[in-house]
Amino acid sequence: MSPGKPPSAQADQAAASVGGAKRSTPMMTQYLQLKDEVGDAILFYRMGDFYEMFFDDALTAAKICDLTLTSRNKSDPNPIPMAGVPWHSAEPHIARLLRVGHRVAICEQVEEPENKGLMRREIVEILTPGTTLADSLLEEGRNNYLIALVPGKHRWGLAVTDVSTGEFSVGEVTEARLSAELEQAGPRELILPREADRNPILATFLREHEGVSVERLDEWQFSPRRGRELLCKQYGVSSLEPFGIDHLEEGLAAAGALLTYAAEQRRSSLGHLRPPRSRAEDDCLLMDEATLSNLELLEGLSGERRHCLLGVLDCTLTPMGRRALRRALARPLTDLARIRARHSAVELLVDDQPGREWLRDRLRGIADLERILARLHSGRAKPVDLCRLRDSLPPVAETIAWMGEENRPVVFPGAVELDPAEDVRALLQTALVEEPPGASQTGLIRSGYDDRLDRVRELATEGEDWIKALQERERKATGIPSLKVSFNKVFGYYIEVTKSQLSRVPDSYQRKQTLVGGERYITPELKEWEERIVGARDQARGREAELIEELKRRVLGETARIQVLAEVVAEWDLVAGFAERSHTNRYVRPHMEESDRLVIEEGRHAVVEHFLSGETFVPNDLHLDSRGRQIQIVTGPNMAGKSTYLRQLGILLVMAQAGCFVPAREATIGVADRLFTRVGASDRIARGQSTFLVEMIETARILHEASSRSVVLLDEIGRGTSTFDGLAIAWAVAEYLRARPTCRPRTLFATHFHELTELARRQDGYQNLNVLVKEWKDEIIFVRRVEPGAADRSYGIQVARLAGLPDIVLKRAKQILSVLEAQGPRNLLSESAGALMQYSLFGQSVGGAVDGAGQVAEDGAQVPRSDVYSQLAEALREIELDALTPRQAMDWLYGWRARLEEEGE
Ligand code: ADP
Ligand code: MG
Repeated sequence: MSPGKPPSAQADQAAASVGGAKRSTPMMTQYLQLKDEVGDAILFYRMGDFYEMFFDDALTAAKICDLTLTSRNKSDPNPIPMAGVPWHSAEPHIARLLRVGHRVAICEQVEEPENKGLMRREIVEILTPGTTLADSLLEEGRNNYLIALVPGKHRWGLAVTDVSTGEFSVGEVTEARLSAELEQAGPRELILPREADRNPILATFLREHEGVSVERLDEWQFSPRRGRELLCKQYGVSSLEPFGIDHLEEGLAAAGALLTYAAEQRRSSLGHLRPPRSRAEDDCLLMDEATLSNLELLEGLSGERRHCLLGVLDCTLTPMGRRALRRALARPLTDLARIRARHSAVELLVDDQPGREWLRDRLRGIADLERILARLHSGRAKPVDLCRLRDSLPPVAETIAWMGEENRPVVFPGAVELDPAEDVRALLQTALVEEPPGASQTGLIRSGYDDRLDRVRELATEGEDWIKALQERERKATGIPSLKVSFNKVFGYYIEVTKSQLSRVPDSYQRKQTLVGGERYITPELKEWEERIVGARDQARGREAELIEELKRRVLGETARIQVLAEVVAEWDLVAGFAERSHTNRYVRPHMEESDRLVIEEGRHAVVEHFLSGETFVPNDLHLDSRGRQIQIVTGPNMAGKSTYLRQLGILLVMAQAGCFVPAREATIGVADRLFTRVGASDRIARGQSTFLVEMIETARILHEASSRSVVLLDEIGRGTSTFDGLAIAWAVAEYLRARPTCRPRTLFATHFHELTELARRQDGYQNLNVLVKEWKDEIIFVRRVEPGAADRSYGIQVARLAGLPDIVLKRAKQILSVLEAQGPRNLLSESAGALMQYSLFGQSVGGAVDGAGQVAEDGAQVPRSDVYSQLAEALREIELDALTPRQAMDWLYGWRARLEEEGE
C-alpha cells in the first residue's frame, strides 16, 4: 500500500533535472508541494481538461490503468514520466487504482483559466475505498462502510460510518464478538491503531478479506477525549448524552479517529453525517462468519449471486430499500416490539394488494436521496441530482398522506407527522427546468426564476437573432447569394464569400483569412454584436452557476429533514418488498414472543424452495424449546435432507427477526439472541487450518457463547477425525449443551453417528428425529419427511449406488456389511484372514493390517486376467483400513495399480 517513491526522492529527481532547458519549474515545484501533502496517494494533477500524473505515480497508473506513458519533456536527457486521463473519464481509472489498494488524491485548478501565470491548485479530496463517493465504486444496493476499531481494556471501541449515506454509529464489543460484528457489517475499509492487526482475530479477518483496505494511524488519534471533542464540534453540542454514547470511552476513541480520517480524505466537513447512534451489542441477532456463509444469507456458496436469501427476498425498488434489506438480513432485530411492528406493516401490505401496488408505484419514482445528499455535501453533485431530488419529493409526500388514511396510522405511526419538505420541492420546482440539460450545457434554471438571468439570456438571444438575420440582410445588400455567416472558435463570427463573388465585397468588410475557395471577413458591427453575445452568455453562465450554488446551499440547509425522509423511504421499501415476496411465496406472519419456544408447522427452506423447478418442496414441522425438547438429534441417510432441515430453521429465524413473514403454515418463534451454525466440512485452506481444527474452533465458540436464548445448528460435527474420536467429541458436545441449566440453547444436531440416538432414549431434553426414506427393491427413495424417532440404518450403500459406484464394489460392500452387523469387525477379519497376505504385492506385509498367518504369493507371479480382479477384491476385503498409516495405504494402492498395469489391464 505504499506506491511510489517517497516525495523527497521525487523532489530530488525533479531538482536534478530542473536544470534541463525548458522545464516549467514553477509548475513542478507546485506539483511536488502538493504531492508532499498527500503522502503515498497517487496524485491526479489537473491540467486543463486532463488529470496528469508524474514520476512513479505515472508509472504505477500507466501499468494498472493501461495508460500510455509519455514524458513531460521529451528532449531532456532525464525526462519526467507522465501519464494522463481526460477529467470526464477519470472515474473508472480511479476505481481501478482504489481496487488494488492505492489511494488517489484529486488536485483541481482553483482559479479561472483567464489568469496569467501559474494556476493556483488545491487538493480537493483524497479517495479511499471507504470514503469515496464515486458512483463507479459504490454498489447501489450495499452500504460502503468505513469502520474504525481500537482495542481497549475489556472491549473494542467501534465506530461505523457510510460516508456515502451519512450513516454513523458508535459502540463497543467484546473481543469474542469482534469478528461476527465485522462480518455482519462487511466493511470496505478499516482504520486501526498501528500494530492493532497483530491481534489474531483481526489478523484472521484481514487475511480472509483481502479486498478490505486498511489504514493504520498513530495511537494518539484514538483518544476518548479527542473523540468526544470532535463529536461535540461536529454536531454543535456540548454533551453527547442525548446520543446515548457518552459512556462509551473506547467507542468515542474510535469515533474520533474515524471523523478525523474521513474529513481529511474528503477535505470537507462531513456535514451530512447523521447524529451518531449507539450500537448496542444485543440489538441484533449475532451470527458469526460460518453462520452467515453457511446459511447463504447474503451470497450463495456456489458464488451464484441470486442463490441466497437476499436474492430471493429482494424486491425493493429504491437503493435505500435495497441497502436496508441487506442490513436487515445481516443484522436481524432482537427487539420484540420492533420485530412485531415490522410484521404488522408487512401484514397490512400483504392484505391490501391494491395498496401495496400503489405504494410500490410511488417508491419507483424515488431516487437515492442519501447519496444525492452526500454528493451535494462534497461538492460532487451534478445538476441532474437536484432534479432527481425534486422529482422524488412528491411521491414521498403522497405516501405520507396515504399513510395517514384508514387503518394505516396504527401500523405506520409517526408517518403522519413527517415533514414532506414541501418548501424544498417548491423551491426546486420553481427554479429548475423540467428536464435537466446535458452535463456540460447550461440552461438548468427555469426562465422567470431570476430577473438578472432572464435579462442576460435575453441579451444573448437578441444578439443571436441579429446574427441570424445578418446573412439575409448582407446577401441583399451585397447581391451575393452564396454569402454565409458562420462561427468558429478561432475567429468567432465571420462572413464568408466565395472567390467568384469577391468583386462584390463592400469596403466595410475587413479580410480576416484567405481560403482556397474564398475569403473570410468581419465587420466592426458584427464584432460588436459578437462581444455582446459572448459577454451575455458568460454572464448567463456565471449567474446560473451562482443560482445553482445558492440552490445547493439551501438544500444543504435542509439535509437533516431530507435524511429523515430517506430513512422512512428505506423502511417503507423494505416492508413493501417483504410483503410482495410474502404474497408471491405464500409466507405467513410468525407469532413472535419472548420465550424459548420454536414451533413451526410445515416449514420450508426459503431458498431451496424458490429455485426448485418442477419438484415441490416437502414441508416439515419442528418443535424445540430449552426444556424438554432442547436438543434434537437428526439422523437419516446421506442426501435425505438433514442439512436442509437445519438450515431451513436458521433461515426462517433470520427472516422472522428481520421482520419478514416466513415460509411455513404457522410459526411461533421465541426471539433468539444468537444463531450459530456449524455446517459441513468446510476446509479453509487460506487460513492454513485443517477442516477438523476449524470445526473444533467453531464448536468451541458455540459452547462458550451460546445462551438459553440462542439457537444452535450442528451439522455432522466430529466428522473430520477418526470414528471413535469423532463420536466421542460429538457425544460430549451434545451432553455439554444440556449440562448447564442456565445455558441451554435450542439445538438441532444432525449426525451420522447413530450411537448418539441413544442419548435421546436415555436422557431428558433430547429427542430423536429422522428424515424418512423408503426402500424399494434395492433402491432408496427420498421422502424428505422428518419424523420422530431415530433412523434405523444409514443406507450408505444405496446412496453409493445412486452415485454410480461399480456393482462389484457394492456387492462386496453388502457382504461386508452383513458380516459386520452380525459379528463385528474382528470376525470380518478372520472370515478372510490370510487372503490379503496371499495377494498383496511384492511380498510386503502392510504392517498390522492383517493378523499374522497366511501365505505369501510369489512376487510378480503371472495370474490370469479374471484372477487379478478377484485377487484385488480379496486383498481389498482383507485389508484393515483403520490400522493402516496413510503411507502404507498409498503404497498399497500404487502397488496394485502397478500390478494391474503389468497385467495389461
Ligand atoms: P443430507 O444433509 O441429509 O445429506 P441435504 O439436506 O443435503 O441432505 O439434502 C439433499 C438434497 O435434497 C438437497 O439437494 C435438497 O435440495 C433436497 N431436499 C432436502 N430437503 C428437501 C425437502 N424437504 N423437499 C425437497 N427437497 C429437499
Ligand atoms: Mg448434510
